[in-house]
Amino acid sequence: ANPHYAIIGAGIAGLACARSLADAGVRVTVLDKSRGPGGRTSTRRGEGWACDHGAQYFTARHPAFIEELAAWQAAGVAAPWPARITVFDADGRRGLQGEEARFVGTPRMTAPARHLAQGLDLRVQITVNALQRYTHGWEIATAERGMLPEAFDGVLLAVPSPQAVPLLQPLSPALAAAARAARMQACWALMARFDAPLEVDFDAAFVNHGPLRWIARDRSKPGRGGLETWSLHASAEWSEAHIEDAPERVALALVGAFEALGGRMPLGWAAHRWRYAITESALDGGCAWDAAQALGVCGDWANGGRVEGAWLSGRALARRVLDGLAAG
Ligand code: FAD
Repeated sequence: ANPHYAIIGAGIAGLACARSLADAGVRVTVLDKSRGPGGRTSTRRGEGWACDHGAQYFTARHPAFIEELAAWQAAGVAAPWPARITVFDADGRRGLQGEEARFVGTPRMTAPARHLAQGLDLRVQITVNALQRYTHGWEIATAERGMLPEAFDGVLLAVPSPQAVPLLQPLSPALAAAARAARMQACWALMARFDAPLEVDFDAAFVNHGPLRWIARDRSKPGRGGLETWSLHASAEWSEAHIEDAPERVALALVGAFEALGGRMPLGWAAHRWRYAITESALDGGCAWDAAQALGVCGDWANGGRVEGAWLSGRALARRVLDGLAAG
């Protein structure tokens, strides 16, 4: 019979993995605790405004991802972002060296994930709490629906490493240790909206001093409309140090730093605390696979972070699964 795999996490890694398996004829079910696919490639929407509040853009270096990006562009779900980007150092402002092409999802950052999810059995608002392997297959316990009715032939985790650890711990000390070794850092993100465009001569900036690390005018990205909205991201160090602060305090600090760079007081704002935003670690092969149990892990944390790393990690895990199935 056709094996049936469960993939936990509908971010870019889980969806890339699911897509590869489904395209090869494997039956997949993707589970995610959020309301829709995308994970950290996400967009917050309000009345008359929208703002990418997770990943801001992505780059493409690996030939396979360059090819995938071309397919996304052909499908209208991604486009180049020719932003005017500057750098603010403690001792002044400078231009950005070594320009590299940047891309965004269109009309929102969630678009590539939605594209990947098309036609897949994706079940949202399902939080996986525990996994257990029996002779007849894997059973999955969820917060919202208790045990899922079906048993799966394999389970692939595509969640941030700190969320993978408790699921893996009772099953595979080796995979749990790999996930535990990948430290992920926090990011406070503020989406600030204005009644008129800010009069600054840049669309985005890397900031190398103070609480901010990155600022970007959302409307400078292709396909966006609505009110002038800026994303302000705090540095990992600042975010970690202020992780328990009230959103109002965070907003005050980040807007204050933004004002010093040419910004002004916003009309309104929304804050989002990413507990697990970024990582730089990697595993050999970009994923981990326990063939004996048909249990695997992928995610940006297994492959150097970032959207491209997540996509490559998901694909690498699918390859391991397919090789195993072919070997019988
Ligand atoms: P995720 O996108 O985190 O997907 C994991 C999914 O698993 C989520 O949808 C989550 O809901 C789900 N999940 C978790 N636990 C469970 C559970 N128990 N049960 C069910 N579902 C579960 N990358 C770039 O390339 N460029 C950037 O500019 C950039 N900027 C960033 C800025 C911020 C603020 C953040 C947060 C990230 C940024 N990144 C950037 C990183 C990029 O977003 C990630 O590398 C990538 O999106 C990770 O994809 P993933 O599939 O590995 O994980």
